[in-house]
Amino acid sequence: NCISPVRRPCGVMVLVNPQSGRGQAIALYNGHVQRMLTEADIPHTLFITERQNHARDLVRSADLTQWDALVILSGDGLLFEVVNGLMERQDWEKAIQTPLGILPGGSGNALAASSNKNHLLTSCGFLLCKGLVSKLDLISIRLSSGARLFSFLSLAWGFVADVDIESEQFRQIGALRFILGTLLRLASLRIYQGKLAFLPAESERGSDSASFSPADSRLPDHLLAPLEQPVPQDWTLVEEQEFVLVLAMFQSHLGEDLLAAPDARADDGLIHLFYVTAGISRATLLRLFRAMQTGTHLDCGCAHLVYRRARALRLEPLSTAGIMTVDGERVEYGPVQAQVHKGAARLISA
Ligand code: ADP
Ligand code: MG
Repeated sequence: NCISPVRRPCGVMVLVNPQSGRGQAIALYNGHVQRMLTEADIPHTLFITERQNHARDLVRSADLTQWDALVILSGDGLLFEVVNGLMERQDWEKAIQTPLGILPGGSGNALAASSNKNHLLTSCGFLLCKGLVSKLDLISIRLSSGARLFSFLSLAWGFVADVDIESEQFRQIGALRFILGTLLRLASLRIYQGKLAFLPAESERGSDSASFSPADSRLPDHLLAPLEQPVPQDWTLVEEQEFVLVLAMFQSHLGEDLLAAPDARADDGLIHLFYVTAGISRATLLRLFRAMQTGTHLDCGCAHLVYRRARALRLEPLSTAGIMTVDGERVEYGPVQAQVHKGAARLISA
């Protein structure tokens, strides 16, 4: 197997989601990606996903000795499947070290945007050919059913999660769907009730009695207490229980043009926690989203917007139904906890 930087020539598994974005991923492959890889002498095999979780299944059962990198040409959703497929393997510890690349082909290309600034597709392709690999944080997400997911991008509840899922119906207009979705959601702005707590990044906590689920040996969540117990002593309980949104960011970009966490780095070991409390006006909220395009929303002086750096968090919605997303994908709704695992995966990037 290749070690960093990726040795050449090496075999790359290229996974394409034909449905992502406006459905032009295969055209991007035929028009650019194939030629780029060929010119760079990178042998690769194309896999076109046929359904949801196809990539996850492929990666879970693949012979990884054959592949030096896994590259997806899609949105964030397909990489989410790949990461979780790798973590479900018996040999997860080795598997998750496989360099991952993302060539933006979807409508939500936040990770690609977080690691490359200009000409997304071209610069991602260039990095892939150069084979530079860096660390990527993974965030362990615990759902109330006991299910566990690994995330590299975001956990959202409230406004942002609703927009992401409700705007799926406008898939054919590409990234514009998020703008349209935002305007529609603003028109029927809601308040979301719940309890939020987090472990501040400054806290110098080692593993103590709160240690979670010793049976699970995959990246143990030593910062979390079981959901049915109170959060550990050194956590901060957020006083407000009425929110417009809660957004935990693990990368800088929420979307190609949404710089939600300007200071975030792929392997900073931090959860960049944002929440907006109830009482904010529609106009102010819209102003925040517009400022987010340049990453200046924290400079707006909006008292309803709070930003904290954390290593773990717990969110308990008080309603029984609603939308919660991880990396832009809808997950089971209910109490959720998360903890960051610094640099647990590897990303092909500058
Ligand atoms: P986008 O950024 O456009 O949302 P994603 O890569 O995030 O693109 O993919 C969106 C969803 O499509 C993911 O949930 C993924 O599992 C699913 N998916 C992957 N392949 C297919 C397919 N062939 N048909 C339908 N859905 C698919
Ligand atoms: Mg998506």
